[in-house]
Amino acid sequence: ASALMWFRRDLRARDNAALSRALQSAGSVHCAFVFDRAILDGLPRQDRRVEFIRESVAALDADLRALGGRGTGLVTLHADAAEALPDLARRLGVEAVFANHDDEPEALARDGLVRQRLADTGIALHTFKDSVVFERGEVLTQAGKPYSVFTPYSRAWFAKLDEADLRAHPVGPWAARLAKRPAGLDADVPSLAALGFAPTNLAELPLPPGSAGAAQLLDDFQQRMDRYDTQRELPGVKGPSYLGVHLRFGTVSIRELVRAARTHDGPGAATWLKELVWREFYFQVLANFPQVGRGESFRPEYDRIAWESGPVAEERFAAWCEGRTGYPLVDAAMAQLNTTGYMHNRLRMVSASFLCKDLGIDWRRGERYFAGQLNDYELASNNGGWQWASSSGCDAQPYFRIFHPVSQGERFDPEGRFVLRYLPQLAGLPAKFVHAPWKAKPADLAAAGLALGRDYPLPIVDHAQARADTLRRYAVVKS
Ligand code: FAD
Repeated sequence: ASALMWFRRDLRARDNAALSRALQSAGSVHCAFVFDRAILDGLPRQDRRVEFIRESVAALDADLRALGGRGTGLVTLHADAAEALPDLARRLGVEAVFANHDDEPEALARDGLVRQRLADTGIALHTFKDSVVFERGEVLTQAGKPYSVFTPYSRAWFAKLDEADLRAHPVGPWAARLAKRPAGLDADVPSLAALGFAPTNLAELPLPPGSAGAAQLLDDFQQRMDRYDTQRELPGVKGPSYLGVHLRFGTVSIRELVRAARTHDGPGAATWLKELVWREFYFQVLANFPQVGRGESFRPEYDRIAWESGPVAEERFAAWCEGRTGYPLVDAAMAQLNTTGYMHNRLRMVSASFLCKDLGIDWRRGERYFAGQLNDYELASNNGGWQWASSSGCDAQPYFRIFHPVSQGERFDPEGRFVLRYLPQLAGLPAKFVHAPWKAKPADLAAAGLALGRDYPLPIVDHAQARADTLRRYAVVKS
């Protein structure tokens, strides 16, 4: 029997659940990736994620050829996946299609269509858990309900961990079952230009694509994992793993990361493992409470809040997006996002809080902006993070807890190392004013050669005033 392995958010040959199962159960396995026009056609023509995916698909193709030998490799299509995939399966004459679960609402809708179209011609679609340790229905309360609070969820998650099979899904013994690509489908992976996209600055970033790139980042992080608990909050330090984008596109296996964390003892690895559990927590929130993915607050009373609108709010929103709010920690964070597609977790919390609690702007607008910029954009985690910061989510920051953008800077970037990387014009200021340049004396500003309003903006809002406005705005959630 022959089968088709359909790669989506699992761009790796090693330790891939669906690929391993396809190879075990079919004598001949074709492999395909579709550059899905239903997604790509709506994107701006420069997008780091598209470039990262293209590079990772090319690396996957090379890995499959190395495993399968001459003539094997990926069939790549540039088309609407929901139509092209069933067509390809028919053309190849396979009996079944294998793929890994993707629980995002749009992916579920696409897979529903594909399943139906395949069934119409008698082809089965088999799907497998791959991108998480535990899926939507696997970690539930005693009453069989989904969790909406992280701590009990994580307790239950860890209690189940010993039952989880964390071993790698093997390829090795069955590699010879990888099928040769038929004539007409043996073209190389299309170039970025052929997909209609222009290059970004991805190649200049410390973000190597593909499984080899993930392995390199993981190797590097293993040297630092023991210090993760003390360094993860400091944006000026190389504390986190930077593996988010690899988890997003599956160039690394979650099982491998959990195994890596468990080989280290101590608070660094334990803290990091807990972050991986946050990822699974938000995945199951999106899957079990799908209304959050449709723009609703997890707590409906938060949809009563009246957000700012009109020309002043528009100008403030633009200033936030472009990193010119006059609050250096927020502006440097947005500059990091805009120039690299990454933003440090602490800064995601601070800049998200600033948008909804200092500027009074609807968190959904910030969520969408992040979605367009983040290399590691993941609907579940991004929505979870924004609903946390805006207090509308499950297990969120209480609404009256409002980050102070200056004291957050003083606490987590005490010497201004991070801020000065993105705002070098503040470098001549005494350190104590780096997070609040408007407090510097005229003589300090003159000595730094800095004219506020020209070289760097004055604050667009007064934090104390904004805080009072926010407490009033949020009061509706109590009634
Ligand atoms: P590390 O610190 O090395 O953590 C390892 C992995 O754990 C991450 O790659 C991620 O998969 C997971 N993780 C860590 N923290 C969280 C968290 N709080 N929630 C969920 N998963 C977590 N994460 C995304 O993957 N995609 C997003 O689109 C996203 N948007 C966010 C938006 C906001 C407003 C906030 C506050 C957080 C968001 N996060 C998001 C969570 C977190 O900021 C990133 O996962 C993390 O900064 C990625 O960097 P890293 O890979 O170096 O993380």
